[in-house]
Amino acid sequence: MNIHEYQAKELLQKYGVAVPKGIAAMSDDEAVKAAQQLPGPLWVVKAQIHAGGRGAGRFKNDPNGKGGVRLCKSVDEVKAAANAMLNQVLITKQTSPEGKQVQRLYVTDGVNISKEYYCSVVLDRASSRVTFIVSTEGGMDIEEVAHSHPEKITKVAIDPATGFSGFHGRKLAAALGFAGDANKNALKFFASLYKAFIDLDASIVEINPLILTDKNEVLALDAKMNFDDNALFRQPGVAALRDPSEENEKEQEAHAHELSYVAMDGNIGCMVNGAGLAMATMDIIKLYGGEPANFLDVGGGADKARVTAAFKIILSDPKVKGVLVNIFGGIMKCDIIAEGIIAAAKEVKLSVPLVVRLEGTNVEKGKEILANSGLPILAANNLADAAEKVVKATKDAMSKAA
Ligand code: ADP
Ligand code: MG
Repeated sequence: MNIHEYQAKELLQKYGVAVPKGIAAMSDDEAVKAAQQLPGPLWVVKAQIHAGGRGAGRFKNDPNGKGGVRLCKSVDEVKAAANAMLNQVLITKQTSPEGKQVQRLYVTDGVNISKEYYCSVVLDRASSRVTFIVSTEGGMDIEEVAHSHPEKITKVAIDPATGFSGFHGRKLAAALGFAGDANKNALKFFASLYKAFIDLDASIVEINPLILTDKNEVLALDAKMNFDDNALFRQPGVAALRDPSEENEKEQEAHAHELSYVAMDGNIGCMVNGAGLAMATMDIIKLYGGEPANFLDVGGGADKARVTAAFKIILSDPKVKGVLVNIFGGIMKCDIIAEGIIAAAKEVKLSVPLVVRLEGTNVEKGKEILANSGLPILAANNLADAAEKVVKATKDAMSKAA
């Protein structure tokens, strides 16, 4: 789960991570009130969307204008910036080409930046450890830095048994060249960031940029936090920060039915059980020249109701021109799955080709039910056969429609 910058900063601040003062605002009046509560003489109005690159982003209605991070020298300028951004669509390198509508703003203190740095805390799967990544190249695309200047990136992994120690902090601060007061502040910053990451079950905390001010303060100027969905049950404070307007409607619907669904750009809808099989299915569709429209894992214990819900979600995507059902019946039997598919296909009035590949317990019974259903279902015998058939059927259906 993602949250907004202002929410991340409010959480981090509770752990002792230093951030510039700021107040969230939902209207231009609130933005003005927020600005009046801050000392000035410089304010920054920041669009709150679940995507980075806002500063360099552009608004759809004003492509040659300013981006989603605006420096203001007066309360009037704050009001104008708020008016220009609220309810408008911001397109950044990290949003889809359609962009995201700005519904919330964050009004913060403008600070005098001496230098910008990069800092993130992630789970490094290779070492299975929570790892700090820091760089002197702040405010930039870190993937780009990793590619062109790998020597400018320092990683420090934390042993979970002993946790974060002074030497970790000193190593990080040294990598960024901090000394004196800046060093002291950085040590506190890193230790607090680690504690927040662990306590809140975060999966990513990215501070880009982390900055050094002209007064040697070390501050998080931007903050992005992601959380482990499987831990939200014990993080009610974090779960409450969810912003449904930022989430894909179909992904929310899937969430309600305990389905893992991720929308993608292709035209072949996939319904699969098990994340591994779902990944393999997407791969093989691509191998045969098709493009998956989604990742959908109905899970091991899917029943008729869940299969129906999954079907409806797939077909509600207008991009979907063909569907592949690829199910391995283990705990769940193939005949039950077949009944679910038929019920769902009838209920949603299936109008695109459907290829079904079933394997596992009661597979013969399942195939028989599908064959006798009277529905135009293409049966497949194995994964390769299924992929080939769905790619062909989808192409045929599209050329017929064209
Ligand atoms: P994004 O990464 O989405 O573009 P940031 O919060 O990183 O948004 O802001 C982009 C840039 O704007 C920063 O790198 C910094 O140079 C400037 N900036 C952001 N907040 C402030 C602030 N409070 N004071 C001064 N400059 C700021
Ligand atoms: Mg940033």
